[in-house]
Amino acid sequence: MADYDKMSFGTKAIHAGVQADPATGAIMTPIYQTSTYVQEGVGNHKGYEYSRTLNPTRDALEKNLAALESGKHGACFGSGLAAIDCVLKMLKPGDEVISTNDLYGGTYRLFTTIFSHYGIKFHFTPMGEIDDVEALINEKTALIWVETPTNPTMKIVDIKGVSELAKKNDILFAVDNTFATPYLQRPLELGADIVMHSITKYLGGHSDVVMGALVVNDTALADEMYRIQNSSGAVCGPMDSFLVLRGIKTLHLRMQRHCENGARIAHWLKSNSLIQNVYWPGFEDHPKHEIAKQQMKDFGGMISFDLKGDDQAQAYQIVESLKVFKLAESLGGVESLVGHPASMTHASIPEPERLKSGVSNSLIRLSVGVEDCDDLIGDLEQAFAKAVQYA
Ligand SMILES: *Cc1c(COP(=O)(O)O)cnc(C)c1O
Repeated sequence: MADYDKMSFGTKAIHAGVQADPATGAIMTPIYQTSTYVQEGVGNHKGYEYSRTLNPTRDALEKNLAALESGKHGACFGSGLAAIDCVLKMLKPGDEVISTNDLYGGTYRLFTTIFSHYGIKFHFTPMGEIDDVEALINEKTALIWVETPTNPTMKIVDIKGVSELAKKNDILFAVDNTFATPYLQRPLELGADIVMHSITKYLGGHSDVVMGALVVNDTALADEMYRIQNSSGAVCGPMDSFLVLRGIKTLHLRMQRHCENGARIAHWLKSNSLIQNVYWPGFEDHPKHEIAKQQMKDFGGMISFDLKGDDQAQAYQIVESLKVFKLAESLGGVESLVGHPASMTHASIPEPERLKSGVSNSLIRLSVGVEDCDDLIGDLEQAFAKAVQYA
């Protein structure tokens, strides 16, 4: 097999971890829709015993993802939250976690309504400055959990800076890389210990699968990850693994278009007189633009904005008038989506906490897809025209 680990991203996306089917030569990894594997004698098998533990289709995907994230070991789960659940299960009662505060709502819920009941304590902080993180570290701190860019206000956390702090204090450092994807940002290269993905989003890319993943480099950490994956059993199925393997083959192409369309739309929004703030790390006046430029290849297709006057009804008018942008939860698919975080993805975060992190009542989040950008801007124009009449 060629040494794809030495090749560039697009080549890895298509080939890493994948080989022609040994039985038939099929170029696409077959969907090994099987729970078990026949043994020739007791303990004499071909490496596969039971599909919760190991399945050839999932195995190919896990290897592919590990290569894309510049890691050695990948593990896939039934959802992004199941992947996060695996990381938290590496901790023990009494441990403390420091996390970004404008977190994906489901992650916040998992931390505060599940794992807090198991004796794990969570601290939430903006992480704009490394000192904010350092101030919360004590001898019980076991994990730092970071999203960057954050959801939905696109704050940027300095991955290298936090990883140096984590190393100095012997703390596990995990990055939720869902928004950026390994095409734009590879946290393991910047010193993180664990990368997490909601594959449901850009990696799957076609809004047809719910799945999650972890990638690590360290062998002991990998053993722990696979032990929990197998023991808790929150694995994904072979059909879904196949769909994601197929989706990833165009990840680099899709991301290029997401970024191009995202940049055009971010600038269009910024020049709109109804809008108060546009959140997108590509703007030179974004407070962490320089760090974004260092740690990301480009700025992605996620953009949020809010309205002058912060009128929720006017925000509803816009999201409900859009036609090409579909009103839906989720992000990262080829089709453009729009959402109202305060009443959708972030509804489970208490209002004071939510407002503090910048998720205002008129905040609208766009997942810019890969359609022709003129059509997307045309759609925004007609929706804003309706909102002007309304106001
Ligand atoms: C969607 C999402 C998750 C959760 O993933 P699921 O696949 O929905 O379980 C976690 N983090 C981020 C940033 C997400 O967007």
